[in-house]
Amino acid sequence: MELAQRKMIIGGNWKCNGTVQSIKELSENVLNKAEFDSNKVEVVVAPISVHLTSVKALVNPNIQVSCQNMSATGAGAFTGEIAGEQIKDLDIQWVIIGHSERRTLFGEDDSIVAAKVARAQALGLKAMVCVGESLEIREAGTTNDFLKDQLTAFKDSITDWSSIVLAYEPIWAIGTGKTATPEIAESTCAYIRSWVAENVSAEVAQAVRIQYGGSVGAKNAADLISQENIDGFLVGGAALKPDFLSIISAANQFPESQA
Ligand code: PEP
Repeated sequence: MELAQRKMIIGGNWKCNGTVQSIKELSENVLNKAEFDSNKVEVVVAPISVHLTSVKALVNPNIQVSCQNMSATGAGAFTGEIAGEQIKDLDIQWVIIGHSERRTLFGEDDSIVAAKVARAQALGLKAMVCVGESLEIREAGTTNDFLKDQLTAFKDSITDWSSIVLAYEPIWAIGTGKTATPEIAESTCAYIRSWVAENVSAEVAQAVRIQYGGSVGAKNAADLISQENIDGFLVGGAALKPDFLSIISAANQFPESQA
């Protein structure tokens, strides 16, 4: 039996960047110039929450929009939070959960990530759920154990794996210009897939998409995307620049570009 090809997914995490004017320029002058086959590649950008509606209106229909975070609670007396129900109400289908900046700067631990994944699942929101180790952990040689713990923490929150994308983002590579080599990124994504095979099922492991994130840019995207277990990227800095088009194009051209 031939196994189904996983659709690639390129996420652009704009982090806490942008003004009304700059997101208009980015949408019109960069994103809307992207040429890709939507049957092969999905493109999802995540502006700050107050820009969600504007970006959704500005971008071509083949570009999807994601929230960068969501509350572990529903609507109610939770000042400053954004509930999944409100994300859905904006007709936004995607959310990023457990980004390392949320975990390290805003105290989101594994139990909060698990609660957010559960809420996203209950609401039918698609989620890019981030995992990734620090440099200390990488150097201590305990990366896989660390990732296993992060994955285990939210595994039981998932009832529908088809709406989950796993984003492997080593903290030491995020915003540092230090990309994981294709070999490191591939072997770690392969470990994540093997963990899913052992702890969920072989079918889910075959189907689930795993993104790599960490200083992906125009120069390294083609090498990284050619790795067997990398199904796309979560891109930070380069998602704010025309480089994002080269990254989309690298995914769109694969595997023809390797021929
Ligand atoms: C990110 O924020 O998810 C990220 C990977 O950032 P950068 O591409 O800038 O390293």
